[in-house]
Amino acid sequence: MRIENIGEFGLIERLTKLIPIKDQDVIVGFGDDCSCVKVDKKLLLFTNDIQVENVHFIKHLQDPKDIGWKLISVNVSDVLACGGIPRWAQVSLGLPKNLEYQFIEDVYLGIRQALDYYQFYVIGGNVSSSKQIVLDLFLVGETQRFLSRKDAQEGDWVYMYGYTGLSKAGLELLLMGKSSYEDFEKRLIESFTRPVIDLEFRQFLHKNAKACIDISDGLVADLGHIANQSRKKIVIFKDRLPIHRDLTAYCKKYKKDPYQYILYGGEDYIPAFSSSKDLNRNKVFKIGKVEEGQGVYLKTGTKLQNLKPQGFEHF
Ligand code: MG
Ligand code: MG
Repeated sequence: MRIENIGEFGLIERLTKLIPIKDQDVIVGFGDDCSCVKVDKKLLLFTNDIQVENVHFIKHLQDPKDIGWKLISVNVSDVLACGGIPRWAQVSLGLPKNLEYQFIEDVYLGIRQALDYYQFYVIGGNVSSSKQIVLDLFLVGETQRFLSRKDAQEGDWVYMYGYTGLSKAGLELLLMGKSSYEDFEKRLIESFTRPVIDLEFRQFLHKNAKACIDISDGLVADLGHIANQSRKKIVIFKDRLPIHRDLTAYCKKYKKDPYQYILYGGEDYIPAFSSSKDLNRNKVFKIGKVEEGQGVYLKTGTKLQNLKPQGFEHF
């Protein structure tokens, strides 16, 4: 049997079963955006996310500073999704022997920019030779309350903070390798190459969110994680899904269906969450509802359609 036949989530399920956790200080283990450990009265969050050449980034098409920035941001996104702030990190590098030094120095300048922006430190790391460039960050955060994927309740509204689909459009534009881009195209590319996480939003999540996740695999796939783990059904209202004007321009120019991007595009790195409250805040969009049942559905008028996740899977 090969890994490609098991799939990413099947693989994780098999492997984690082999190493059961028997430690009362572990509040949350595998299966959420971060794991969580109680130390004295503090809740520490642990997460790691890797950036692999030709899987997550394409060396000759991206600025190495952006690659460093993104390595930090994707991890900060997971910490925010659990309600925390980032505190300390370690970097592991796998580098080909013939890689030019300037490249990795520029990656580190991008890491430095992101650390200054999010206000925390990389305090250690590890290096190995490897066939392709591998950048892995291990990040520790802290929080007063852990926001999990499990806590959506019947009757909650589903919200997201920001727009989805921009990053997928940005990646497609990047891969076109054009010599010049329109302004809206440059902005879309930047949502893929240089995601920015709004840590200030954490207070709002603490006050209002029950279940929370960051959208990295795609809206449907990630709401599917909340639905599964909360043992509930999530209904998305199609007419409430926000379409960013840059995505509208992209879909018009290249004759694409924006909902394919909004529902299934990944790497948006924005929080999606459930709340019993009626929330009103800039860029917070009420996009659905939590009901008894299971799965993710799209409601168009009175029609209800079951959606299967088409998010990114590694195998
Ligand atoms: Mg996540
Ligand atoms: Mg992640």
